[in-house]
Amino acid sequence: MTLPNTRKEALEQLECFAPQTARQYALERNYDRGPSSRENVSLLSAAIQRRLISEKEVLQAVSHLHSLEASEKFSQEVLWRSYWKSWLELRSNIWHEYQQTIKAEKRRDFPRYAEALSGKTGIECFDYWRKELQETGYLHNHARMWFASIWIFTLALPWELGAHLFEEELCDFDSASNTLSWRWVAGLHTPGKHYIATAKNIYTFTEGRFFPDGILNENPSPVSHSPASIQLANERFVPFRPTPAKTGFILHSEDFSVETLDWGNFRPSTVAILDPKLILFPGERSNRVHQYNQMALKDTLARTSVFFSSPVELFSEGILFDRVQEWAQRHQLKEIVLMKPWQGYLKDHWETFETGGESLSVKRRYLRRDYDKELTGKARSGFFSFKSELKPLWLRLQAGNKKETVWEVLADSKPAHT
Ligand SMILES: Cc1cc2nc3c(=O)[nH]c(=O)nc-3n(C[C@H](O)[C@H](O)[C@H](O)COP(=O)(O)OP(=O)(O)OC[C@H]3O[C@@H](n4cnc5c(N)ncnc54)[C@H](O)[C@@H]3O)c2cc1C
Repeated sequence: MTLPNTRKEALEQLECFAPQTARQYALERNYDRGPSSRENVSLLSAAIQRRLISEKEVLQAVSHLHSLEASEKFSQEVLWRSYWKSWLELRSNIWHEYQQTIKAEKRRDFPRYAEALSGKTGIECFDYWRKELQETGYLHNHARMWFASIWIFTLALPWELGAHLFEEELCDFDSASNTLSWRWVAGLHTPGKHYIATAKNIYTFTEGRFFPDGILNENPSPVSHSPASIQLANERFVPFRPTPAKTGFILHSEDFSVETLDWGNFRPSTVAILDPKLILFPGERSNRVHQYNQMALKDTLARTSVFFSSPVELFSEGILFDRVQEWAQRHQLKEIVLMKPWQGYLKDHWETFETGGESLSVKRRYLRRDYDKELTGKARSGFFSFKSELKPLWLRLQAGNKKETVWEVLADSKPAHT
């Protein structure tokens, strides 16, 4: 099993997988036949997470081969990713509470925590997935659900610690998909509806590789729930218009494909690429994640240098604020532009520039691509209403292969609570 870690590899993988994103995907997707048999899923998540390829490119490739009805299952999965991002963006309190809880829980003792981390619980399937995660940086979606369910309901461990383990070791780690999927399994997303891993379901969808009969807690209560308030971001968008001022462009690991965007006549004076290592993170990312990032960074550096023909630097060492400040001064920048970070560690770290803790003496302008602009703010309720966005999106995709427009986010004014 190989996770594509360059744009070229991701595009090739997409081309190979797109023909089977219709009925075959819907029938086959839920089977976890082990790491050497991953032909039934795309394995694109780590590349999509960093936008080595974009969601739009993935959906567009599918829309050129299948109708929306035929490929609905696959397209909806891609949309789940966007739903989670949009949902968490509207509810920053969920992210920040999660951060606080990780800190608190790391200081407490939980009887089966060490066993779970070292994969020595005696629950064969769980211990297997624990090792698989460590060795590959990936788990099949169904295995993630079973693993999370066993973690929460059989091992009686806090969901936050399990989510944090995934943050450290998944190559596709995404703050929204991960945190909210763990909450969903726990029964916090749809109150009262928790996901229960059963021996029978595991037996069926691993095709008999595992049958933890009589070992799992198959009758648990959901984790207790407190409702999340929505904070409307009040973002306004205008088409991005570059100015003649000296401008630096910061590329970060939430959006690594500048070539999928229509930049008009924008040519930055200089480009800086942020290594995720520079972003504050309350843990230790695995070697596998670092290796994935190194390949993705190398690829992005090469592509971006060709695309913008501006000097490109990679920021891998040091303190984020110092690096950016020194770079801005050295190039006498008047403005810095970057894709607006989503709720997560990068945003938390970057916001220190905005909230006064660290004053960066150069103007910052934040951008979003078309796809994000259309879906931002839409996840006010459940996925069912969010997915009504799929049809118009699909029609736009079928209409052409154009690059995505770049929008500037004008105001992220004081959040309004509902
Ligand atoms: C507890 C738990 C934690 C998870 N953590 C993450 C995470 O950190 N990052 C992440 O990208 N996904 C996460 N997922 C969602 C899902 O498991 C992975 O996206 C999927 O397994 C990736 O494999 P694939 O690329 O072969 O997916 P495919 O089945 O080929 O799907 C195509 C694409 O759709 C998106 N997608 C598919 N399923 C989901 C889903 N359930 N939720 C959101 N997007 C989805 C992904 O971008 C994926 O690449 C998590 C799921 C669970 C249950």
